[in-house]
Amino acid sequence: MKTFTTPDTMRAWSRAARAEGHTIAVVPTMGALHEGHIALIETARSMADGVIVTIFVNPLQFNESTDFDLYPRPIDDDVAICTSLGVDAVYAPTAATMYPTGFQTHVEPGDLADRLEGPMRPGHFRGVTTVVTKLLTATVADYAIFGQKDYQQLAIVKRLVVDLDLGVDIIGVPTVREPDGLALSSRNRRLTPEQRAAAPAISSALFAARTAVADGETDPVIVVNRTRSRIDAEPHLSAEYVELVDALTLTPVEVIDRPCAVLVAAWCGEVRLIDNLVISPPQI
Ligand code: AMP
Repeated sequence: MKTFTTPDTMRAWSRAARAEGHTIAVVPTMGALHEGHIALIETARSMADGVIVTIFVNPLQFNESTDFDLYPRPIDDDVAICTSLGVDAVYAPTAATMYPTGFQTHVEPGDLADRLEGPMRPGHFRGVTTVVTKLLTATVADYAIFGQKDYQQLAIVKRLVVDLDLGVDIIGVPTVREPDGLALSSRNRRLTPEQRAAAPAISSALFAARTAVADGETDPVIVVNRTRSRIDAEPHLSAEYVELVDALTLTPVEVIDRPCAVLVAAWCGEVRLIDNLVISPPQI
């Protein structure tokens, strides 16, 4: 497995592979790889001849410096996982390489970034669109694989590659969960045992919302209120937002009459967790 730390060496490798007729899929990550990332890597492997995993904890997308400082960085374990999965190249640039002195150009997302996570995390999606643009131009892949766990991010990245003609197909992969339903996240390892025991109430509330809608509930206010109360009923959890939106445009709906998504951000102690579920009324 190759390891690259600069965009020029990464791009040279990709261009050479493509010149030989190989297709390439890239999996952008911030490391601390878990089964969710592994599902993305396996999807990449099934779609393309060559797989690149990028590992970069992007300072631009953290709006809280403690969250950035506490973010796990087990690089040796990550490299071992990539090797064992048959990844062809890891691209792990430093922050100084990505954002050298004088760096000043950003990619500004549009309306999709103005709701849900957007107002809660000022600058977050601008950091995401900027880093994803840089990672995609350095890796020159045919496919880029993202998780539906970060539902709004996936929608914004799909828009980004269309708007800026990046020429990459964006592929979404369903959220991988623990047996008790908790969505896998690198932040889960910061939960105390009591918090970890409480955290699955988020996904159970989402599953209950999906069941209610499948059984005919069409009022988004009722679904949102019930979801929020189920989460807030758990002593270690506090919902920051619960929203039910059109699954494609991410705008609020007045009636659940098309595919929708329920998105949640909740605090579990000091750890902020997000999760979501696509829900559809019966017969859709
Ligand atoms: P991160 O390292 O948290 O930035 O995530 C890198 C990629 O993995 C993103 O596209 C995430 O959406 C995806 N991802 C994170 N957790 C999961 C999960 N539990 N299931 C599927 N994909 C995930």
